[in-house]
Amino acid sequence: EELTADVVVIGAGGAGMAAAVTASQNGKNVIVIEKTANMGGNTALAGGALNAVDDGSETALARNDSVDFHYQQTMEGGDNQGDPELVRTLVENAWDGVTWLKDLGMQFQDGVFTVTGGMWERAHKPVEPEGSGFFKTYKEYMEGHDGITMKYNTKAESLIVEDGVVTGVECTGQTGNKVTVKANNGVVLATGGFGQNVEMRQKYNEETKLWPTLDETIPSTNTSAITGDGIVMAEAIGAELVQMGNIQLLPLGDPETGSLSGNIEHAVESRIFVNKEGSRFVNEGGRRDEMTLALFEQPDTTMYIIMDSDTYPTGDEVNNFNETINSLVAAGRAYKADTLEELAAQINVPAENLVKSVEEYNRHCLGGDLEGQADEFGRTLFTDTDKKNNGINDGPFYAAERVPTVHHTMGGVKINTDTQVIGTDGSVIPGLFAAGEVTGGIHGANRLGGNALTDTVVFGRIAGESASAFTR
Ligand code: ADP
Repeated sequence: EELTADVVVIGAGGAGMAAAVTASQNGKNVIVIEKTANMGGNTALAGGALNAVDDGSETALARNDSVDFHYQQTMEGGDNQGDPELVRTLVENAWDGVTWLKDLGMQFQDGVFTVTGGMWERAHKPVEPEGSGFFKTYKEYMEGHDGITMKYNTKAESLIVEDGVVTGVECTGQTGNKVTVKANNGVVLATGGFGQNVEMRQKYNEETKLWPTLDETIPSTNTSAITGDGIVMAEAIGAELVQMGNIQLLPLGDPETGSLSGNIEHAVESRIFVNKEGSRFVNEGGRRDEMTLALFEQPDTTMYIIMDSDTYPTGDEVNNFNETINSLVAAGRAYKADTLEELAAQINVPAENLVKSVEEYNRHCLGGDLEGQADEFGRTLFTDTDKKNNGINDGPFYAAERVPTVHHTMGGVKINTDTQVIGTDGSVIPGLFAAGEVTGGIHGANRLGGNALTDTVVFGRIAGESASAFTR
């Protein structure tokens, strides 16, 4: 089978679909190659936090936030390893990305929140659960517009290069048949990261030794399709790979599967983490790498998230993954008790320690004698602007067990601010554009929570524009 479109997109996750819709808006017809039977990728599994600052708005001013502060935190949060120009592009186009999504019909909840590892109250949350709102929006666009063809169950195998220009992709179809897809304009690589490729993550972790191990005993939040295919394909035609050893883990994995489902937290301010001794061990408002490394030091590499009924007033409310807290409790995946002592008994931690941990935390929350002051772990995020968290003191109380899990790979294909892929010789590889987790060098050593969805929208749109504009 041989197919041709103006723009060919590989990968139907967040970045790929943003690119496809943008190319369509530019009047191009598009073929999207997707290895699985669905659009969504890891983006669909995301907690749904999208960082974007509407500079000068009431919301931003009330939180002392600005595009410049988002830039600064993104750079510093990644140990200043991110490419300054790519980070500038990310933060400066983030709000425009939200506006674009809203214009397409996507709905967001009012206000902003602090996502774990986001470091600040600037994450917008879609009304639809997880990342599903993005794909509902992109599908609705496709229903109203011809010109985007989805090729599901089709795995991209290698990029086609003619006279030094990327002109298409060789794929394997569902029955093992060969599918050749050619582009009149550009090819967009949007195949995501390599969190489910144990071999790759061990190999590249050797370079940085950020983690004690990333072998098969460490689970991942990713879908099984996220195996670094695009990175391997791009490398094979001479693309430069950057910062491949920068791999992000979260301390929030389900103990059985490593997935984020069953995570009961809503926002950073209103919850603490305790170990099996019932003691806090880290700044829960800090960086994802620091939190997860600290968790590796705890007994059985296990922790509990603790919070109160402020987050779940009736028990019928859902977490960020559309699961009601009561259903999680019924399934034995979360714990609920009227007192902290009973909660401690359920999760088998010393009650005295749990109570002490909570009391100490409460002193820093609204109304406490140390309100707003940094605690012994350096935590400063205690009270969110709208909800005004007054601590963990209203039963019923909730707990959920969590373990380290591989979440995001910050390294990948090198791009410039037009999403052109850069070769090992430093020159642009004509015809090839990349966006999303397949790329490297934006998030540095540690990605801020909430910046990945922003990445998919901002760079996905740029890739759609650039690939549309490319001619041989
Ligand atoms: P991003 O957040 O960067 O958009 P996602 O993980 O959301 O990344 O999406 C990546 C998508 O690419 C997934 O839907 C995945 O199934 C798809 N994909 C990965 N490898 C291939 C491949 N070889 N061929 C086609 N699609 C692929």
